[in-house]
Amino acid sequence: MIAANNPQLTSWVEVPENSDFPIQNLPFGVFQTKQLTPRVGVAIGNKVLDLKSLLVLGYFENLPFEKEDFDTDSLNRLISKGKLATRELRGRLSKLLRSDVSDLQNKHHHVDQCLIDQSEIEMILPVQVGDYTDFYSSIEHATNVGIMFRGKENALMPNWKHIPVGYHGRSSSIVVSGTPLHRPKGQIKPNDDEPPIYGASRLLDFELEMGFFTYPGKPLGQRINMDEAEEHIFGVVLFNDWSARDIQKWEYVPLGPFLGKNFGSTVSAWVVTLDALEPYRVAGPVQDPPVLPYLEYEGAKNYDIKLQVAIKPQNQEETLISNSNLKYMYWNMCQQLAHHTVNGCNVRGGDLLASGTISGPTEDSYGSMLELSWRGTKPLAMNGGGERKFIADNDEVIMRGHCDNGEVRIGFGEVRGKILPSID
Ligand code: CA
Repeated sequence: MIAANNPQLTSWVEVPENSDFPIQNLPFGVFQTKQLTPRVGVAIGNKVLDLKSLLVLGYFENLPFEKEDFDTDSLNRLISKGKLATRELRGRLSKLLRSDVSDLQNKHHHVDQCLIDQSEIEMILPVQVGDYTDFYSSIEHATNVGIMFRGKENALMPNWKHIPVGYHGRSSSIVVSGTPLHRPKGQIKPNDDEPPIYGASRLLDFELEMGFFTYPGKPLGQRINMDEAEEHIFGVVLFNDWSARDIQKWEYVPLGPFLGKNFGSTVSAWVVTLDALEPYRVAGPVQDPPVLPYLEYEGAKNYDIKLQVAIKPQNQEETLISNSNLKYMYWNMCQQLAHHTVNGCNVRGGDLLASGTISGPTEDSYGSMLELSWRGTKPLAMNGGGERKFIADNDEVIMRGHCDNGEVRIGFGEVRGKILPSID
């Protein structure tokens, strides 16, 4: 077992019940305050631990990190140090935060300097993403979309159970939770019998996804095998891959998604390490027909991560609209990474690979409005009145995720984004 995951550990920092951030989590992020420049932090309870200050005060002795790795506006330098280094760092932080270790907790002037209330900080985009790839790995989602657009008989394309289908997305428009986005405009075709028009999307949707950031992978020409894939995965975030269904529908033939997707995708601010998810492994769905040898694996490669989506209309309370789980994914993260590199494509530190919409088997577990409202035929009632087929102006979409194995609960915080009216 990874020592920092020990369920018996408690922290001298108060951790409220049902907090996403007990000592067994210790996710990394980047924050700033009115006084402090951007820097790397770790969440614990309702606080954040300032790693730059900890290093300056001498708490990271014998770890392969220097001040510049934390005195920076992204996790890229930290990620570039590789898995052994970040695992050691998380282990050191766990030790410093343990109730039964006094090194830091008894030095009150150091604690005052390093431990900051989360209410006082602003989180910024955790990683400068070089390349972003989006998969399509939920069989329930792919089947639902297939039924809607091609009928039940041809729901899954012939390649789907053989290839973790994906496409290259746009990294420049990835934003951190809390960043509002404007409703996109583009070519839409409201009437099948008439030419397209230019206008604001009328079928704006979210996609409930999770994504993972890679460590520096391998040079161009080399591949990452299934059995080494986990060594190249740093951590996992919630991911809302906003989608304009009407723009998407008109543009996607023959080269796939483009402007219906690249106007924005939102990531959660805290990156939960793959190490912290270790206790929540579960077996994935049986893959039948058998996959090609380069995608074969042994052991449990899925993770039991409970996911929720809520809509908060302006001046209204939230309405919970979906309960899903990452464990439903047909293709796991390792298979995505192995497939991505099987042709020799290189990945670099801080690349983002997203899961694709995570839909479960039941109607209340779908991961998009397209499916939840079944193309707009089944509007969803809002608690505060009104209904939604797709996302309205000034709606906030909030996604949350956590793991709970009965012993320890760890979470991802949330990914939140508001849709503002389109710009003229
Ligand atoms: Ca997507």
